[in-house]
Amino acid sequence: MIQEAAERVLDHLEGVPDGPAANLDGAHEKAAELREPLPEEPTAYDDLLDTLFEEAIVHSSTNVHPGYMAYTPGGGLFHAALADFVADATNRYVGTWFAAPALVALETNVVNWFCEIMGYPDESFGLLTSGGSMANLVATITARRERLDDDFLDGIIYTSDQSHHSVSKATVLAGFPPENVRSIETDERFRMDVDALESAIEEDRDAGKDPLLVVGTAGTTNTGAVDDFEALADLCDREDLWLHADGAYGGFFSLTDDGREKLSGLDRCDSITVDPHKGLFLPYGTGAVLMRDGDALARAHSVEADYIPDWEPESGTVDFSQLGPELSRDFRGLRVWLPLKMHGIDAFRDTLAEKLELANQVADCLRNIDDVKLVAEPQLSILAFRVEPEGIEGEDLDELNQRVLEEINARNRIYLSGTTLNGRFAIRICVLSFRTHREHLADGLEDIEAVVSEVTE
Ligand SMILES: *Cc1c(COP(=O)(O)O)cnc(C)c1O
Repeated sequence: MIQEAAERVLDHLEGVPDGPAANLDGAHEKAAELREPLPEEPTAYDDLLDTLFEEAIVHSSTNVHPGYMAYTPGGGLFHAALADFVADATNRYVGTWFAAPALVALETNVVNWFCEIMGYPDESFGLLTSGGSMANLVATITARRERLDDDFLDGIIYTSDQSHHSVSKATVLAGFPPENVRSIETDERFRMDVDALESAIEEDRDAGKDPLLVVGTAGTTNTGAVDDFEALADLCDREDLWLHADGAYGGFFSLTDDGREKLSGLDRCDSITVDPHKGLFLPYGTGAVLMRDGDALARAHSVEADYIPDWEPESGTVDFSQLGPELSRDFRGLRVWLPLKMHGIDAFRDTLAEKLELANQVADCLRNIDDVKLVAEPQLSILAFRVEPEGIEGEDLDELNQRVLEEINARNRIYLSGTTLNGRFAIRICVLSFRTHREHLADGLEDIEAVVSEVTE
């Protein structure tokens, strides 16, 4: 059975680079066909694999394709899948130390490694989550529990107008009224305006509010912009505010020399979100929240129960279930541990450095195409551009760029997505897949150039 599944997976993955970068035509019809009632009878394994590989998997946007540079590209290191197979089939319980101390130790290593990558001190610690949204939620709740009493409805959260929507979602889920989120304007490079932030904090203090938390972004979704964490940390020190860095997309670029420089100050944040399913190329379902003061998570989340042995945080053991909302969960630590041990961290460092380099190369090439204007230079591995032929403006120009995006994607070698920057439509490129190399960008640039010359003729 393993053999058959493995063969299908390998065949599928081998075919991906030659297939389309997205394959959504007819996907809705296929989805409707696959709806069915509770099965009474067994179905042959082979037939089920057929359904999966020939009908379900192929009708999707191919976010593992080397040309997929829309939204945030998917990783899916194969070694992580092997770890999942071992973890799921052996199915040990890693929510508490006493149930599997040696396995919990492996996941503890992973969390410590992440803290080390971020330049955090020895007393730091964290928790693997299902993703960045969950990590932002855990950080927001921890900040609230550490800094405010139970009467917290005047607590104010500051973030930029470029931050990920999971930040305001986390605020609301953490119990704050939605209007307690301040969306601070950004500068010409889409980084939080620290002066504007300072004024907003002052205004709230004057109005009797409780400024609590600043969420900076270490690599925004729109353009990969990195907030000035040194300046944010200085301000938060002065104002005694909790500083959280949302590094879901960008945090792991700390592994590279260039990235570490750009993310300077990240180690001064009280907490950091990183997404191994983005920056370490792992399968979806792998995020992490890291705390400068590792004990803060337990103070915010631990609750005792009669049917579980007591856990002493000072004992040198770790009960992950006491550090976040989940009791039972998958053994996500193994999914990180195995690939990191098999490849060594240098392989990840080199791959991330390659993505930074590729984004710069693409930017250079785009600059040389007539009528193309970079709206956002790459700060990490995301950039945004527009086609701006003379004489076309406003909504007409937005429509033209929409068309450019559609036509680039229709060629099926690369897949890009759009966004709104300064109120105008822009096309973005996010280079993050471990499968994306120079030759795929060369193909992509060829397509971009061809489409641009078509529409500007
Ligand atoms: C992807 C992303 C998130 C959300 O992470 P999920 O893992 O998708 O939940 C949050 N913030 C930023 C900056 C992101 O790029």
